[in-house]
Amino acid sequence: MTPRVAVVGGGITGLAAAWELLRAGAEVMVLESSEHLGGKIVTDDIGGHRVDLGPDAFVARTPEATELCRELGLEDELVTAATEHAAVWVGGRLRPLPRGILLGVPSRLVSVARSRILSPGAVARVALDGLLPRGRRKDGDGDLSVGDLVTARLGHQVVDRLVDPLFGGIHAGPSKDLSVQATAPQLAAAASARSRMRGVRAQRGDQAKPAFHSLRGGLGQLVDRLVEELRAGGATIHLGSPVDSVPVEGAEATIVATPAHVTAGLLATASPDAAAQLRSIDHASVTVTVLAYPASAFPEPPDGSGFLVPQSGGHLITACSFASSKWPHWAEPDEVVLRVSAGRFGDERALDMKDIELVQHLHNELVEVLHLTQAPVRARVTRWIDAFPQYRVGHLERVASMEAALRRDLPGVEVVGAAYRGLGITTCIAQGRTAARRALASIVARSTLEEDGDFEDFDYVDVVEPASPGSAWAAVGREEREASEPIQMVTSWPTPPAPGDDQEHDSHVD
Ligand SMILES: Cc1cc2nc3c(=O)[nH]c(=O)nc-3n(C[C@H](O)[C@H](O)[C@H](O)COP(=O)(O)OP(=O)(O)OC[C@H]3O[C@@H](n4cnc5c(N)ncnc54)[C@H](O)[C@@H]3O)c2cc1C
Repeated sequence: MTPRVAVVGGGITGLAAAWELLRAGAEVMVLESSEHLGGKIVTDDIGGHRVDLGPDAFVARTPEATELCRELGLEDELVTAATEHAAVWVGGRLRPLPRGILLGVPSRLVSVARSRILSPGAVARVALDGLLPRGRRKDGDGDLSVGDLVTARLGHQVVDRLVDPLFGGIHAGPSKDLSVQATAPQLAAAASARSRMRGVRAQRGDQAKPAFHSLRGGLGQLVDRLVEELRAGGATIHLGSPVDSVPVEGAEATIVATPAHVTAGLLATASPDAAAQLRSIDHASVTVTVLAYPASAFPEPPDGSGFLVPQSGGHLITACSFASSKWPHWAEPDEVVLRVSAGRFGDERALDMKDIELVQHLHNELVEVLHLTQAPVRARVTRWIDAFPQYRVGHLERVASMEAALRRDLPGVEVVGAAYRGLGITTCIAQGRTAARRALASIVARSTLEEDGDFEDFDYVDVVEPASPGSAWAAVGREEREASEPIQMVTSWPTPPAPGDDQEHDSHVD
């Protein structure tokens, strides 16, 4: 029989899971609370160009996202950034990042000294790296924070001016709180070398290959094609269908790919232990502002891919991408488009401002660093509330413990997404596809056990409480919708009427 799997959440993780399920021959239903598919992937028209307002690229050195694009026939649409070299705003000017860094950690003393990002004292501190006794950490040692790991060998300034701005750009949180194991396993591996810089050199991989890919039509093109292929393959996708508890009735397995703070609510009754672990994951909010300037506003054309901003300077901007230098198709030749990020965990100044006030502040800081002579001609502010899960020290243990509680309480329910084992698009795709394979394997395992009647050896098959009738979908979204049109609710997997049964089914849909 064809396995039936429900996917809750239509972000890239959920859609990738649905794709894997469909390819494996499953019957798939995707339930998305909003009217938008792709979650944090949002591409919109700005000044007649397709511009990404959330993520704008995915990692190219691991294969999952590129492979998915190929499977969807998007290979010819892949683009690489025209420039990848970034700078740091230090001492009132932009200084290019030293060559060969790994997540902000330098690999060569000479290049870090030449970059003049660090003070002479801080460079001398870095030079001690090869002379300090070998780190005592071994595989199997517990987790620690990225900030602590780097400070111990290379000093505070490397963290403040290089590592923290980079991690701030990726995770929107301070490196002193972020788990090495969860956010930078390469650094953990480098830590056991005699010199941390030597360890970094060994971990850097092939620097000649482009680091990032995007698509000519923005990352929304990936979502659009994926959705098109899912529908063509027979998957049902319901928009405006928020789920409020799992498992989804009628599905043999449920993949939950909603943000962790939402998932905690969905699991609250059926797996309180898993829900408690999820609730303990903090999230950070940021703003992303796209600003278009006439090229003539720049005394010199922007050089490189953009710049990062150390928090110690007190600026609002955390990072600025010279978006039209990276992606020339985002602008007319006589315009420069910048994508400016502000806010991180513990700094909500940008979020507290009105759009116009925020644009003014950002512009003033850009004038300070880029010496702009004119105001922007277009601006678009996007507020990303609770969008960045914080992978604190011990994160992977927390995730493992959540998963163990889930296996015990809700076999057949998989929880995946950006909050667990990597928040980049590439890892979200990998997690979604793995969850799909696990879900299918669990259906097979449970049905085999049911046939054999041998439940003894498998605590896994602990009887699943049937979902309470009319729970999940019946209750959801009621408040918001009551005042508007009648709700068309999904209460369970649509079942075909039995022969002779002409009763109306209320199970669906759209
Ligand atoms: C501003 C920004 C910039 C980024 N830049 C990059 C980048 O350049 N490269 C990169 O690789 N990554 C980047 N990321 C990270 C990456 O975009 C995300 O981690 C990833 O897209 C998350 O995908 P997801 O499917 O796990 O979650 P989401 O995209 O959050 O999707 C979850 C979905 O679940 C839905 N949902 C919520 N509640 C319910 C419910 N009750 N019932 C049903 N559905 C529900 C939501 O509406 C949403 O569609 C960036 C993130 C942000 C915010």
